[in-house]
This record gives sequence, structure tokens and C-alpha cells, in this order.
Amino acid sequence: MYETVKVANALKEMAKNLTGKLRIAKEGINLTVAGTLENVEKFINNITDKFEFLKEFRLDSNVDSNELKLKRLNFFKNSPGCEHVFDNLSVKVCDEITPFNVSGKFEGEFLKVSPEEFHELIETGLSEGNTVLLDTRNYYESKLGYFKGAITPPIRKFSSLPSYLKSNKEVFRNKKVLNYCTGGVRCAKACSYIKEILPDSEIIMLDGGIHNYIEWINKENEGKTEEDKKELFFLGSNYVFDARVKISPNNHKIVAKCNFCMKNSENYIKCTGIGCHLMFISCKESCYNKNKFCCEVCRDRDAQLKVVLNALNSNIENTEESPDSQNLELKKIKKIQCNCEVERRKKLEEGI
Ligand SMILES: [Zn+2]
Ligand SMILES: [Zn+2]
Ligand SMILES: [Zn+2]
Repeated sequence: MYETVKVANALKEMAKNLTGKLRIAKEGINLTVAGTLENVEKFINNITDKFEFLKEFRLDSNVDSNELKLKRLNFFKNSPGCEHVFDNLSVKVCDEITPFNVSGKFEGEFLKVSPEEFHELIETGLSEGNTVLLDTRNYYESKLGYFKGAITPPIRKFSSLPSYLKSNKEVFRNKKVLNYCTGGVRCAKACSYIKEILPDSEIIMLDGGIHNYIEWINKENEGKTEEDKKELFFLGSNYVFDARVKISPNNHKIVAKCNFCMKNSENYIKCTGIGCHLMFISCKESCYNKNKFCCEVCRDRDAQLKVVLNALNSNIENTEESPDSQNLELKKIKKIQCNCEVERRKKLEEGI
């Protein structure tokens, strides 16, 4: 604990000119920062100087600078964006970087492969069979983009993945399982776990996640004619947890669909229904201005809640008594599941 707090304080000091999220746990650190190019570069220099495990990324006059630059770019995953993607700098010491809801450490061994190897494995896997692609992210992430043919679990939290995998174990038995996530943090955990519950399966993960794959394929296809280009196996966009919302490969096709008119769109918004927080797609062309709720249940529930809340407020003003019946009603309305959530749970129960 003492160590993690010390690391957190040191990082906080080094990131003082930046915004972002710093998460520090015993198992590792996860840093997302935003700022001017100069300040981000300074931060990277500071952390590589400070931490031994990052020493291979230190600026060193003895090493080929281009190669080092590339290596740093690959590891730190810089991408252009606006420094205001975060409101502030939040620093937290946590138990786990990616809560997985299963205690203990997994020792299951798996293979990490480069985007290029991953690409080839998909290519042969798609034609030969015996290969399954697993998206280890949440469903609102995979809705925006996924690898061709991947299984996309209808889960809302990463911590639901173990039970999902357990109940759908047979799909992965004796198979080559290709795993991927946003940047490679979560699926390392998932891979270890699958290997433990299915020791006879071959578990492979995409090193650096979709992020790495997009960078690689963009470079790979740059300046090539349509015929010479490699097929883009990642369809749609990579969902990211900041104001950018998504990062898309060059010439990407949109796979996500508007909740209302079913036209292809990537305009992701959050349901304004009280207690819903669901992300959904409402196309800019025709639906965005009319639909601030994910479905009619949320819209109706919101209207009902407003009526009860108004009554509650006027009761509080008029009497000293606590209006229990209205409170109860409030709770009841809040508990109603919206159509989207009902549908997701149904899919979860049905399994793969
Ligand atoms: Zn629409
Ligand atoms: Zn909703
Ligand atoms: Zn809904």
C-alpha cells in the first residue's frame, strides 16, 4: 500500500501540467493523460527516467533515435486530440486496475502476438475454422466496432466477463481463442482466466489491443492501391474512454446503427433518463434532435418520475410529514428496466 501511494504522489507531481486519469494498483499502473505535445513529452521523459521498468524507453543518445521514437509511440500510444478531453487530473490508488470479480491471481499462460500476426491468425482462422475471436470489452464498446466474426459479450462491466465465460465455456473448448480489447490491459486478464478454466484451448491475445492494430494497419495500407491494401478486419471504430469517444482506422466503414431509424451512425450519446446512463446511438441526420432517451420506456419513466418528484417536492414544502407512499412509488418507477436493458439481459441468458 505504502509503495502504491508513493508512486501515486510521484506521478501526480509529474503530471501537474496535464489532465487525465492515473490509476495505480499493485498489479500495475494505467495512465491516460492529455496536454500539449510538449508537456506530454516531458511527462513521458519524467516517468521513463523515474521508473526502472520503463527504462527501455528512456531517451538515450546511444540508441537509434527513430527506432526509439517508434518504440515509445507504440508503447505510450500517443494520439492527437484536444487537451480538454478530461476536466481535471484524477489520481487514484485502487485494488485492481481492471476489476474482474474473481479473486486470486491467474497463472494461465497465453501468447501475445503483434497486430500483424493477429491479422494473419484471423485470416487463416476465418477460413479454417477451429478459431474463435473474443471481444473482452463491454457491449457498448463492441457496438461501435469489433473484429470481423468476433463474439461480443452482452455485458455492461468487465467484472461480468468471468461468469459469462463460465456459462459459455463449451464454445471455447479445444479452440484457438483470439482475444482483444481496447489497449491490451483487460484481455491479458481474461486470457489468463480462460486458460485456467480451459487448459486445452490455445489462448492468444492482441498485444496493445485494437489501438495497436489500427496504427499498424493504417501504416501498412498507407499509399497503397486498393488491390494491394490488406483487408481491414477491424470493422467500425475503437471506443475510447474520453471525450474523443472513438478512434477510427482510415477508410473505416460504420457498423453501428441508430437506435431509432437503424441507419448506420456512430453518434454515441448517453440516455438522459434518470438512473439509466446507457450509451446509445442516435443519428445526427434525423434522430438526435428528437431522441434524448434510449427507448420509450426511459422516456415514459422520466415523465412519470417528474410527476412524482413534483408531488414530493410540494409535499415537503407543505407538510412536515415524510411522504412515504410517494417515495415508494419513486423507487418502483426507478426499478423498471428499459427495453434496451431487457433485451441485453435476454441475450446474456440465451448465451452464444
Ligand atoms: Zn436515426
Ligand atoms: Zn435509457
Ligand atoms: Zn432503453
